Amino acid sequence: MDHPYYNVVIAGVGPAGLACAHTLQARAPHLRVLLLEAGRAFCRRPCPVDRGLRCTGCGGVCNVISGFGGSMHYGDGAKLSLLPSGRRLITHFGEAAAQRLCADAYAWLTSALPQPPVLAGEYLSGRAVSAFDAYGLSIREYPVAVLGERDLGRVIEACHDGLSTECWYLSELIEAQPRDGGGMVVKVATHDGVKEAHAGHVVLATGRRGVTATASLLRQLGVPMTPPDLSVGVRFEMDARLLAAIGTEHPDLKISQRDTAVANKVKTFCFCGGPNGGRLKFTHYHNAFGPAVITLDGHETTDRVPAERPLAANFGLLCQVQGRGNAEGAQASFLGTYRDLAQGRPFAQTLGDFLDRTPEAVPWPDLQQRLPYQPSVLDLTTGPVHELFTPEEHASLTAGLDRVLGSILWHAGSAVSTRDLADQVLVVAPELEFVWEQPELDAGCRVPGLPVYVIGDAAGIAQGIVQGAMMGMAAAQAIAAGQTAPTIGAGR
Ligand SMILES: Cc1cc2nc3c(=O)[nH]c(=O)nc-3n(C[C@H](O)[C@H](O)[C@H](O)COP(=O)(O)OP(=O)(O)OC[C@H]3O[C@@H](n4cnc5c(N)ncnc54)[C@H](O)[C@@H]3O)c2cc1C
Repeated sequence: MDHPYYNVVIAGVGPAGLACAHTLQARAPHLRVLLLEAGRAFCRRPCPVDRGLRCTGCGGVCNVISGFGGSMHYGDGAKLSLLPSGRRLITHFGEAAAQRLCADAYAWLTSALPQPPVLAGEYLSGRAVSAFDAYGLSIREYPVAVLGERDLGRVIEACHDGLSTECWYLSELIEAQPRDGGGMVVKVATHDGVKEAHAGHVVLATGRRGVTATASLLRQLGVPMTPPDLSVGVRFEMDARLLAAIGTEHPDLKISQRDTAVANKVKTFCFCGGPNGGRLKFTHYHNAFGPAVITLDGHETTDRVPAERPLAANFGLLCQVQGRGNAEGAQASFLGTYRDLAQGRPFAQTLGDFLDRTPEAVPWPDLQQRLPYQPSVLDLTTGPVHELFTPEEHASLTAGLDRVLGSILWHAGSAVSTRDLADQVLVVAPELEFVWEQPELDAGCRVPGLPVYVIGDAAGIAQGIVQGAMMGMAAAQAIAAGQTAPTIGAGR
């Protein structure tokens, strides 16, 4: 039986896969390209948690991390963080090529907006610098644009409308093998059964949902892989007014701590604290890590309207795992504890209970009513979140928080201390990040010796929407040019 032939098959339609497809369409319109997307179309991705309802897993396909637009979720806001955020891409591409790709990716992502977004995050006030300096911390400065819910919707719609490439939804790439005579044979699981196609090039842009499946596919192809540098942690949710001042100056506040005050490296992650705060998101991994687990993320908002209580804001705090064996063992150890403590579903305790390692937790209905703000998720239970962590990890997280929140409160001119907020801040877990193995890639994001490219989160180099789009463009440029290196200095 003859199988269809495509010059390029792209698996995953998040920002990386989309940027790759758009760039191929612009640069090599004669190529036959197929997009495969394991999730649903962008406008068919409701998340019950967004409406305060229980996470149901959405029929085996988490609508937050799967679908046209990937983690760019219709109805959410997002931050576009530019280089040097994702600075490992500068090492990967070289300074000039990385800057060019970043400018092109940002221009493409924002082209549908009625006006260019305002960039914050640079030229911070003396007050911000000295507030953090007083705690021995420094803020990483880089330009960040906040796209509110309406603007991100426009971006996602434009990505969809502007693309004429063939796209199969609910279609998951499950196998890719070298084909005799060149190219690859791919197998795709669809609702109609498994289909086979031949491809000149295969681009893996499978993001968070594909985290373990893509690594095992690459291992089967013999691609050298570097294990991930796993980080685990929590998200702190609080009254949005506490984070608004620093969130306005730097919407993607990134603070790393690696000194004698913390045993393990600690860093803030995905800061969601502008004037309108942000919401918690659940990311359901289904069977990616064995028995199902749900982890956390967050997103910034601009359009919410407070009801009876003030809005919530949040930020993540992560620490590198230590003392749990190799990367595989560390992941199994952390997730095993999570399943034992909370059946793999997000849970919470008060900041005071987290700091003091209190075994008993206030029941969620009481706790949520006592909070001085409206919690963003109503589907929580309470439990001993602190028990997820080794004593060293817990000590690093609490010492790290003390300094970060201390600096934020000082900068905001608040007279309260971290301790004063013991009953007013919610500690929600777990955050699990930097889970991607890193395949060996050249500057065109191609693996050694095969017409296979790995881009976006799946490449394990840098996370982020702009960063994913940069890699998508680089791979497309390499494919279009018939070479493995991107065309340095050339636009899309
Ligand atoms: C809730 C949340 C909020 C975030 N907020 C921000 C933010 O504000 N700013 C920012 O820069 N970053 C943010 N991120 C991170 C950002 O979304 C990712 O870094 C980015 O989406 C990565 O793009 P990607 O294309 O590599 O992967 P993804 O966007 O994850 O897309 C991958 C796609 O591949 C599909 N897929 C997976 N496996 C297969 C397969 N085998 N076959 C076919 N399709 C497959 C998935 O269904 C998915 O649609 C956020 C992440 C989350 C989860």
